[in-house]
Amino acid sequence: MRILLVEDDPDIARQLKQALSDASYAVDHAPDGEEAQFLGETEPYDAVILDLGLPKIDGVSVLERWRREGMSSPVLILTARDAWSEKVAGFDAGADDYLTKPYHTEELLARLRALLRRATGRSQPVLSCGGLRLDPRAARASVNGEPIRLTSLEYRLLHYIMMHQGRVISRTELVEHLYDQDFDRDSNTIEVFVGRLRKKIGPDRIETVRGLGYRLSPLPGEAE
Ligand code: CA
Repeated sequence: MRILLVEDDPDIARQLKQALSDASYAVDHAPDGEEAQFLGETEPYDAVILDLGLPKIDGVSVLERWRREGMSSPVLILTARDAWSEKVAGFDAGADDYLTKPYHTEELLARLRALLRRATGRSQPVLSCGGLRLDPRAARASVNGEPIRLTSLEYRLLHYIMMHQGRVISRTELVEHLYDQDFDRDSNTIEVFVGRLRKKIGPDRIETVRGLGYRLSPLPGEAE
C-alpha cells in the first residue's frame, strides 16, 4: 500500500511519515500544493493524506483539480480546528474523510485503514483468503492460525495482493504500489519477494499467470 502525504509542516510531516512507515506503508511526501498536484496526477496512490493549508496551491484547489483529472484515490483531509467551512469545501472538492488538527496518530491510522477497506469494497477489518489471514490493525498475518513473520516489504506485498485477491496483478502494478518514489525500482525484485512470500504462506496460494502477473486465490477446498 502506497500513500501520498501532503503536509508543509516539517515536524508533522516527519512524525507522520515515520508512523506510516512503521505501519508498513510506502510513503511519498509532498511539502507543497504544486508537488502534491504533480505526484497525485502521475503516481497511483492507494490513499492520500492532504493538509489543506499549503504553500503554492491550497489543498482544496489541489483536490478539485485531481478529481477533475479523474484521480480516484481516497483522500483524507487535515483541517484546522473549528474550521467547519474548510471541511465543507474539502468534502465538496472530493474528500472522503477528514481529521481536525491536532489529532492522534492512532486515529489517523485507523481512518486510513477504513478508507483503504472501503476503496476495495470491504467492510471486515481482517483480510482473509482461505486459511490465510492478515490484520492491518496489528500488521500481522497468519496461516491456519499460525503467525508468520514477514519483513515490512513482504507484509506490504501480501497486504496489496490480499486487498485485490482473485484478480491478476501485474509486476508493474506491484512495483507502483509497494515502493515509494525514491526507491530504486526494479520489477525483477518483485519475483524475489513473491518467492519469499510463497515460502511463508505456502507455495500454491500465489499463482503466476504467465506474461500477466500474479493472482492470489484460496487453495482448492478452502472457503474464500
Ligand atoms: Ca499546513
